[in-house]
Amino acid sequence: MTAEGEFDLIARLAPFLTGSGEGLVIGAGDDAAVIRVGDRDVCLAVDVLVDGVHFRRDLSSFADVGWKAVAVNCSDIAAMGATPTAAVVGLCRPDDLPAADVEALYAGMDEACRRYGLRLVGGDTVRAAALALSVTVLGDVDPDRAVRRSGARPGDRIVVVGTLGAAAAALAQAVRGAEPDRDLLAAHRRPEALVEAGGALAAAGATAMIDVSDGFGADLAHICDASGVGATVDADALPAAAGVAGAASALGRDPLDFVVAGGDDYALVATLPAGVADTTAAAVGGVVVGEITAGSGPVLVAADGTTTDLTGRGWDHYRAGDRT
Ligand code: ADP
Ligand code: MG
Repeated sequence: MTAEGEFDLIARLAPFLTGSGEGLVIGAGDDAAVIRVGDRDVCLAVDVLVDGVHFRRDLSSFADVGWKAVAVNCSDIAAMGATPTAAVVGLCRPDDLPAADVEALYAGMDEACRRYGLRLVGGDTVRAAALALSVTVLGDVDPDRAVRRSGARPGDRIVVVGTLGAAAAALAQAVRGAEPDRDLLAAHRRPEALVEAGGALAAAGATAMIDVSDGFGADLAHICDASGVGATVDADALPAAAGVAGAASALGRDPLDFVVAGGDDYALVATLPAGVADTTAAAVGGVVVGEITAGSGPVLVAADGTTTDLTGRGWDHYRAGDRT
């Protein structure tokens, strides 16, 4: 752990990342990078899962971990409005990890690859002190049609597809030593990437899009930062996952802690022009939760009118330390 936050560190690395040039459509700073290959745009996303940080062996099976490593990358590809096509995997394997467990990891990756229609086409294996899995997924999208974080404009409506809070609530139950609710735990173990919804939102004219990995507030803040806008969000409109309210009350916590700041949800947050937002939301099974403003950063508005600044409400594992 370091005092420096994840996003501060990434900002320091910016000089080393090629920000423009022929063939580069979108560089670092979005859910996936996009490069032009022939007459197609190819998205690239990578995510690393580390034993004890991003998963616990007592909560997830090896197959669950394999599934998640692929699904969370497909979620980033979905957030660009693209379709996942291929994956490669880097495996850090401790000496004492049996081959059967590695096979189970791959069985889970295979399940997710089948689910999302991509192929696992290779990887690398190294000996390491801790088990970790780094999956890189490529995606395909029509030229210049990838949806960035930076296109939101005042007056756009904010649409959320998927539910919020389940994975974080399950983890909070586990940390408290309670048996996590089955459905909440399923969201932690096997998140779904909303690939079809991402494509539909892009086709409907989404001006910006992101998937919720850090937490709804933090991820909407990324859209606001990249777009130079503000946002107001109706707290009552947020699609809390079933069971989150009950879990929160049993834990003596505010359900919004999980819904707004929990993370690991893999819902999609998209901004759409007002004229198409309602019909699009209905078509993809999403909800309109608020509006983009000319301000800066997201603000949550409760039913009684009280407001909460959402900037930075989310999970930053460099600051929070081990999530578990
Ligand atoms: P996401 O939650 O969508 O996976 P991240 O918050 O992990 O996105 O990353 C935000 C952006 O910063 C991405 O564009 C990613 O490529 C970039 N990034 C993150 N970590 C690094 C790193 N160590 N080196 C270079 N770029 C990074
Ligand atoms: Mg993302």
